[in-house]
Amino acid sequence: MTSTILVIEDEEGIAQLLQRLLEGAGYRVLVALDGETGYRMVLEERPDLVLLDIMLPGIDGWEVCRRIRQVSTVPILMLTAKTMTSDVVYGLELGADDYVTKPFEKDVLLARIRALLRRAGAPPATEQRVYRCGEIVLDLDQHTVTVAGRSIALTPLEFRLLSVMMRNPGRLLPHRYLLTQVWGPEYAEDIDNLKLYIHYLRRKIEPDPRHPRYILTEWGIGYRFNCE
Ligand code: CA
Repeated sequence: MTSTILVIEDEEGIAQLLQRLLEGAGYRVLVALDGETGYRMVLEERPDLVLLDIMLPGIDGWEVCRRIRQVSTVPILMLTAKTMTSDVVYGLELGADDYVTKPFEKDVLLARIRALLRRAGAPPATEQRVYRCGEIVLDLDQHTVTVAGRSIALTPLEFRLLSVMMRNPGRLLPHRYLLTQVWGPEYAEDIDNLKLYIHYLRRKIEPDPRHPRYILTEWGIGYRFNCE
């Protein structure tokens, strides 16, 4: 089944570029040139994913994001010229799922879209018990991790942290999200502790911990578990 992507972007050149790119990748594409229209199309067209520009005339992307979240859980990918991480964090707090910065890399954009659609479409009821990514295999029942066939000893917290990341391949995982999932909501601000455990994990699972292949850093925002 073809997924429908709604592009909310006021610059027509960029909107057309996105439309061609996404249609070329096999998606059905709808375009809205302002936020009001975009919000209305979310209600009327029920897209599978929204690609949302931040700088829009009238109501801006932040407000569109906030309004969409009041009525829908559709994945929202922010498209922004701004590289300020505080802006991205703000967007995530308003309910966006991920972001790409303009000018965007086509492959990165398509990978982010695939990751969000996969997650949205994944059946939540039957929980997967074995996760694979590159040479890493994590087994929730056996409580084991192997890298390239070799068994790796992890502490309970390291195991939990890795399992949260491997369940969300390719997805942006903000500091607060990881801390809440692994340590609990009362530890949501304890970023230094998270960094320490990421450091431990990288030393155990990365072929070259100084140039991570799996656990990628999103500066000032969080991490992304890379399986591509
Ligand atoms: Ca714009």
